Amino acid sequence: MDLPIESRWWFASLLLLLVGLVGFPVSATPPAGTCFAVLAQPEVPPDPSAMRCAGAPADYREKSLWLRLPLPAEAAEGDGSLVVHTTRFNSMSAMFVYPDGSTDIQTVHQGSYRDHWHTGGQIAFSARVGIPVAAAWMRIDNLGNYDLLRVRFLPGETAARQFELSALAIGAALALLAMAAAYNIGLALVLRRRFFLWHGFWAAAVLVWGIVWSQAGLVFFPETAGTVSSRLATILACLAIMFAAFSTAAALRSALPETARRSVIGLGLLVAALGIFASVPGADLAVYGILLSIGTLMTLAAVAISIGITWWRGYAEGRDMAISWAFPMIVLAMTQLVDFDTFLWGGGAQIVVLFASAFQALCLSSLATARLSALRVQRDAAVAAGNTLAELADRDPLTGLLNRRGFVSRCEQAFGEHKTSPFGLLLIDVDHFKRVNDRFGHEAGDAVLVALGTKLQSFEQRYPCLAGRLGGEEFVLGVAGLSHHALGQLAEAVRQQLGTCDQSTGTPLPSVTVSIGVAEGVADGPFRKLYGRADRALYTAKHAGRNTVVFASDIVEASDAQISFLDPEDQEDGTVQWHGRTGVLR
Ligand code: GH3
Ligand code: MG
Ligand code: MG
Repeated sequence: MDLPIESRWWFASLLLLLVGLVGFPVSATPPAGTCFAVLAQPEVPPDPSAMRCAGAPADYREKSLWLRLPLPAEAAEGDGSLVVHTTRFNSMSAMFVYPDGSTDIQTVHQGSYRDHWHTGGQIAFSARVGIPVAAAWMRIDNLGNYDLLRVRFLPGETAARQFELSALAIGAALALLAMAAAYNIGLALVLRRRFFLWHGFWAAAVLVWGIVWSQAGLVFFPETAGTVSSRLATILACLAIMFAAFSTAAALRSALPETARRSVIGLGLLVAALGIFASVPGADLAVYGILLSIGTLMTLAAVAISIGITWWRGYAEGRDMAISWAFPMIVLAMTQLVDFDTFLWGGGAQIVVLFASAFQALCLSSLATARLSALRVQRDAAVAAGNTLAELADRDPLTGLLNRRGFVSRCEQAFGEHKTSPFGLLLIDVDHFKRVNDRFGHEAGDAVLVALGTKLQSFEQRYPCLAGRLGGEEFVLGVAGLSHHALGQLAEAVRQQLGTCDQSTGTPLPSVTVSIGVAEGVADGPFRKLYGRADRALYTAKHAGRNTVVFASDIVEASDAQISFLDPEDQEDGTVQWHGRTGVLR
């Protein structure tokens, strides 16, 4: 298979990442040195001797988990903050004990974090300023998952700075996602492309997830603090995965086997359904957590394999998707390998995921837009080439005039536009043209036809008319809007000017005369009828002696007229001169 080196590298790294995702689940990091006890609803801290300081607590979900936290050096100097990251609990209290024995208890409940929440998904409890802390306790009732609990004791100033920075970073990531969502949904509406719609929904789902996860949404809905938010965040994360799967399936539609496409869509739907079931109150989170991990990994695997296959097969869509997905994949893998929760001002993995998603959404939409505009340029060029071909098909190659097909179609258009105004048709036939060919050769005959065509075309600049060559030595002029008298003058001018053949090329051409049949009408009848009348008038003109103009309406008079036709005389310079006279034109 002919695949560029860098493509193989990308593909290999995607597979490696996948292995990384499956092979290295998050390692739990309970606060080091924390001692814990699980009690059934006690109001006072447990006796230190009843606490364990190694391993992890069990059986805490229906009870109260007490934690005695190790105190960092800063805590002894006063002004410390306990920063906690978890959302699944019923109530959570922080208890600071001071050297004089006094205590300070701060509590938050589901639906009421009061002013303890911060953007970045953190809940903060501040100790008294300037007074050293002797001990720090936490009591958490009905905690959802001890492994996901993150507790940090920070100097107050550090905590405040981290909250600011994390709010700034989250705000920037959310703004990027909002732009990506609006851009993609806008493109989907304008271009009517399903891929952009799913991609826009994906960005929108990640955006709303970011707002809910980071707790920024509590500004508007403080009562959703806690479980409601975390359930919503689970559903949104699963919907985001579903939309990502849909957008991949839509982007690779033409390149992907139908079964693979259906698998990607099916897995996306499965993850979304699991997310909704997991969020139903009372759902067994432990079971759904495992099912969701498996579903998500399978979806990501299906997406990665689909992208890989299409890229391997040489589709540009596969390459674009791989470039855009590679970074978020790396980030997702990193969040599984490294515990980011204490990095990035406590925002942890989620901030990284937000930025990676914003990058993906913007990167993929700009690549898709670039490819789309390239396709448009190609399409425009094809349309232009098609137009040129159509134009060529309507033209006579010898004279460049419209051929019969082109003339008739354009005349019918003009006919349609001049339904009530007069329309005249001049059928022009060269007299005794066969003799020109016989005497001077076919090439000279061609040159005469070209000269006649050029002359006829010059009338288009001066009159509202259209010139054409119907075939052989028969030309035509369609004239719009001229009265009977003006049309007669025009026909006469045509006869005279074509009769004086063009000498400007330098090569003397044999002089010829033309006979013209004219038919008039308003554009209410079929073109063929007008043509038939003009043809009969031309026939009459020929019989009346040639070099003459005959109106279809004057046919009786024309046939009665006495018009003499003088035999051509040979000129000394080799040209032939016919002496004709204007036919009856009353
Ligand atoms: P009439 O006055 O009755 O129209 O006589 P004519 O000789 O012009 O008419 P006829 O229909 O008998 O002959 C037309 C001639 O036009 C025959 C053919 O050799 C010539 N002709 C048709 N097309 C071309 C062409 O493209 N180039 C050249 N050189 N001659 C052509
Ligand atoms: Mg002729
Ligand atoms: Mg003819």
